[in-house]
Amino acid sequence: MEKVDCIVKADYVLTMEEGFPVIEHGVIAIRDGRIIDVGSDGDISKRYTSDKILGGNNRVAFPGLINTHTHAAMVYFRGLADDLPLQEWLEKYIWPNEMKWLTAEFVDDAIELACLEMLKAGVTTYADMYLFQGVAGKKLEKIGMRAVLGTGIVDFPWKGYAEGPDDYLRKAEEHIKEWKGHALITPCIAPHAIFTCSPDNYRRAKEMAERYDVLLHTHLAETQFEVSQCVERYGRRPVEHLDAIGFLSERVFAAHCVWLTDEEIEILAKRGVGVSHCIESNLKLASGFAPVTKMLDAGIKVAFGTDGAASNNDLSIMGEMATAAKVHKAHTGDPTVLDSKTALLMATRNGAEIIGLGDRIGTISSGKEADIVIASLNRPHLTPIYDIYSHITYAMRPSDIETVLIRGRVIVEDGRLLTMDEDEILSKAEKWQQKIMGKTG
Ligand SMILES: [Zn+2]
Repeated sequence: MEKVDCIVKADYVLTMEEGFPVIEHGVIAIRDGRIIDVGSDGDISKRYTSDKILGGNNRVAFPGLINTHTHAAMVYFRGLADDLPLQEWLEKYIWPNEMKWLTAEFVDDAIELACLEMLKAGVTTYADMYLFQGVAGKKLEKIGMRAVLGTGIVDFPWKGYAEGPDDYLRKAEEHIKEWKGHALITPCIAPHAIFTCSPDNYRRAKEMAERYDVLLHTHLAETQFEVSQCVERYGRRPVEHLDAIGFLSERVFAAHCVWLTDEEIEILAKRGVGVSHCIESNLKLASGFAPVTKMLDAGIKVAFGTDGAASNNDLSIMGEMATAAKVHKAHTGDPTVLDSKTALLMATRNGAEIIGLGDRIGTISSGKEADIVIASLNRPHLTPIYDIYSHITYAMRPSDIETVLIRGRVIVEDGRLLTMDEDEILSKAEKWQQKIMGKTG
């Protein structure tokens, strides 16, 4: 018998490998942060032993969920301004509050709440676009969560952070140098959007990404307003514009991609751009319905993102799965599209692939790092079970998540975060809310 660090047992292990295998009475053996074997109980239990056994009866194990587009620190602006159109929401409420409050200290505290919420909901990795990412990285090391942290780039100065494009790019470069090769944190560059970044800024970000071999994260074709402004300014639509300036490649993952022509879908597919579908944010801001089924049919890798908590208003990928699987059926008039398997694929393997971590996470496979979620099936709303994929997409709730492992380390156990004090995180958030309310009325 070979001794391993940890063994996960579950009635169902969903590896999310090709063909959607379901391993009934499955066992996963983990050593040094990696999955060294996975299979059925009879096989694996004969070969491995461990002092730490997780999961058990009435459990399902699947790869950690991946949130491919968020602004995690915005969690402190949750519910601050709702029921508004995107431009007004952004220009009148979000940007003024960010200008006023966004500091290293704010990010340092807010990240805790965002991670607590995501981890308890089975999200093990998120891709972020924001400022002060070095601070976020240090906090994530402490919490033990995985992230792809993109340093935001815009044309205009940001008081206390950057005076202009040169400064943003210098910060991006420092960030890459600090974190490249880290076990949990992957640095990337995040030019914000066409309406906030000049072609020159996009080009410079791209050149830097190539120089350091990192990914690029941007917002793209989110609203009709963005499309008409882009056409007015550059004489072409958003995807055409980024393609014309040579920005689009496999190095890019783009959030939203709501307003696309068939030709633009073809461009995204040809260039290998990954798409982060943020359906709840798009619904709430009435941005529109992204052509997800068309994109998937065209061979584009589409994954899920929550966007910031100020436009969602939570950071739950399970919520995105359930919403997307239902809305696209109604929107296309076809109840067979975006089935439950596809939803979980988008939330796991596709997510890992578009953020550049496909060789390390996204499936439960021998050799991959052990980012694994174990959920209880011993719930009224998950009984009886005919199809485990159906349950995860349509019936499971974040509160069903019991255990979360990242790189083989148990971060959440019995639904509680082990690496930080949950009550402290919540009371810190309340203090910030009082501060923000006091000064903003
Ligand atoms: Zn966003």
